[in-house]
Amino acid sequence: MNSVLRIALQKSGRLSEDSYQLFKECGIRFDYGTGKLKSISSNFPAEFLFLRDDDIPGYVEDGVADLGIVGENVAVETARQVQTIHKLGFSKCRLSIAIPRGTDWAGLSDLEGKNIATSYPNLLGSYLAEQGVQATIHEISGSVEIAPSIGLAEAVCDIVSSGSTLLSNGLKEVETIFRSEAILIANPQMNNERQALTEQLLFRIKAVQAAKN
Ligand code: ATP
Ligand code: ZN
Repeated sequence: MNSVLRIALQKSGRLSEDSYQLFKECGIRFDYGTGKLKSISSNFPAEFLFLRDDDIPGYVEDGVADLGIVGENVAVETARQVQTIHKLGFSKCRLSIAIPRGTDWAGLSDLEGKNIATSYPNLLGSYLAEQGVQATIHEISGSVEIAPSIGLAEAVCDIVSSGSTLLSNGLKEVETIFRSEAILIANPQMNNERQALTEQLLFRIKAVQAAKN
């Protein structure tokens, strides 16, 4: 009795606004943007935790949170034991390989023996292995797109939505390796009460999505 669903959301970033908006449209009220780490809903048995997106799959795996919203890219990269229970249709982007604009491109085999900078070593590593390409992956956590101009790598593998960041760094997109959108993830070992609350939430989310189509 009296279970409260703990839901992890990105504190501030490209997932936040649409995540907050989704709960608003579901009629679930809570305060955010106050600088606090947690907020209890005034009209649904849920407590919201505001975190960095990269930490969310780990918190959901450990059961610190029952549910979380993250990009599929982060869910796959972190490889945590969580369940994807619903696709949310926002924060769409792709993970792509890009090279300096003046460089010729005949295909993936051009990457053989080269250095590729990325924040997604696991996703890139499995893709290259699948494609039978041997390259050296350099993991860097931010500003990946400057790597070629400072001589760190011949190529990058980074998140793209419009492509304007690539363009302004003199890069061109040559291969998409993964397509992503925001997803709702869940701890696979929730108790029955929390599962029932998750079902109620999912019912509302689906109704909101249906009304938009
Ligand atoms: P944090 O400070 O929480 O770690 P971050 O800087 O790692 O944030 P954001 O840039 O806010 O992350 O991106 C969060 C998620 O939004 C990404 O993992 C991806 O799924 C998606 N995303 C990233 N860039 C874009 C974009 N340009 N357009 C749409 N969605 C994007
Ligand atoms: Zn992040």
